[in-house]
Amino acid sequence: MRIWKTIVCCCVLAGLISAARADAAVRNAAFSDTDTGVAYAFECADYPYLRVKYSTADESGSVVLTGRDGAFEGELLLPFRQKAPQARLEILTPSGKTLFQDTVRLSSPGAPKERRADAGAATKVTDLRLTAGEKEMSLAFTAPGHHQVVVQVSSVMHKAAYVLEEQADGAFQDTLRLPYINARDMVTVTLKSLKGRELAKAQERVLFNTMDAGETAAEGPLKGVKVCIDPGHQALEVHAGKVAQYPGAAKRVSGGDSTMAQGRATMRKESVCVLELSYRMCRMMRELGAEVVMTRWSEEVSVTNMERANYANDQNADYFLRIHLNNSSKGTNNAVYVYGPSNSPYAKAVMPIEQYRDTAQTILDALKAATGVEGGVVRMSDQFVGNNWAKMPAFLLECGFLSTPANDWILTTDDYQEKIARGVTDGLVNVVEGRLKRFVFH
Ligand SMILES: [Zn+2]
Repeated sequence: MRIWKTIVCCCVLAGLISAARADAAVRNAAFSDTDTGVAYAFECADYPYLRVKYSTADESGSVVLTGRDGAFEGELLLPFRQKAPQARLEILTPSGKTLFQDTVRLSSPGAPKERRADAGAATKVTDLRLTAGEKEMSLAFTAPGHHQVVVQVSSVMHKAAYVLEEQADGAFQDTLRLPYINARDMVTVTLKSLKGRELAKAQERVLFNTMDAGETAAEGPLKGVKVCIDPGHQALEVHAGKVAQYPGAAKRVSGGDSTMAQGRATMRKESVCVLELSYRMCRMMRELGAEVVMTRWSEEVSVTNMERANYANDQNADYFLRIHLNNSSKGTNNAVYVYGPSNSPYAKAVMPIEQYRDTAQTILDALKAATGVEGGVVRMSDQFVGNNWAKMPAFLLECGFLSTPANDWILTTDDYQEKIARGVTDGLVNVVEGRLKRFVFH
């Protein structure tokens, strides 16, 4: 049951919003205690995404909320609640400016009554087993002589600690619910005695969240079009020798993999985020009638850039779309880029390079329109082996900067990922239907 109590903190706001966009404000905020967390409702017309930092005596973390027409409403889940009397909440812009702070009183189930360990209880746990799930992690161990163990849970953006009771004879088992963890994030579990002695420590990554890859519709603007989507990078290392930069080129370069970007704030790996984006694009393009294949469907693979181009060629794809996220050493950057090849004879056989450029521009324009990102250009370049060896229109898309914290944060949301996928899909439809930015054949 939710009992709403409105807490409007105009006086708190007055001192806090000065650091943010001049007119940015959180209004009509209401928070209330629920059985499973904190229900929230507030308005903020200035940002479609806001981050909430929360902390209680049991857990703390950070998660991005998505607004609808300026209204934010939902429940912040607190799965580890045991003894916390209150939750401290801070609402920030994606770039980290505080807009609002408040404290919400919580009903507490109370920590379990302390049950001391037996004399001679184990000083080490040697059989701690972590089993990864999607947004959850199971643990099992035996701690002879202990009746309760403190479990500390830590991932990049979340921390928690709670008292776990034995099931029988020192055997312990539990499943951690991690609603705000990102796919493939590392989870560290530390076991401690009630007196604070460390008994064991183990690490495991949560699984990649299964996503809907869609089904090919019978009709649609992409009917008869075969697309090969190439989610950049992967979890495993690749081992590849040197290859000619493009067919016939004297210059030899690595045919393998390049260094991937990583979220500045979330530490998310580019390979995971672009795999999520690629699943969404696959689903959207199939819904419009396209036949879609992908160079990889999971993280635990090893595919070189040359193998990716060869796969698109073997599949006889009509378009090869390579999905990446960017990294900048020069601080924040808000831009998207589309790269096409420039000197490859394979590329020149596909279409004149000027038309190639216009095709890239058409995709870039749609990506910018869908995301609202204003920066970025088309670049025709020899630098990408995977583009140079493809025998069909091949584009490498840098869909945003993981090194820009605000971008990194909003890329964790379904909503922003859908916008990117929609932009790329719209761009492809425009290309297929011949709506090029500037048609070169007069
Ligand atoms: Zn990349």
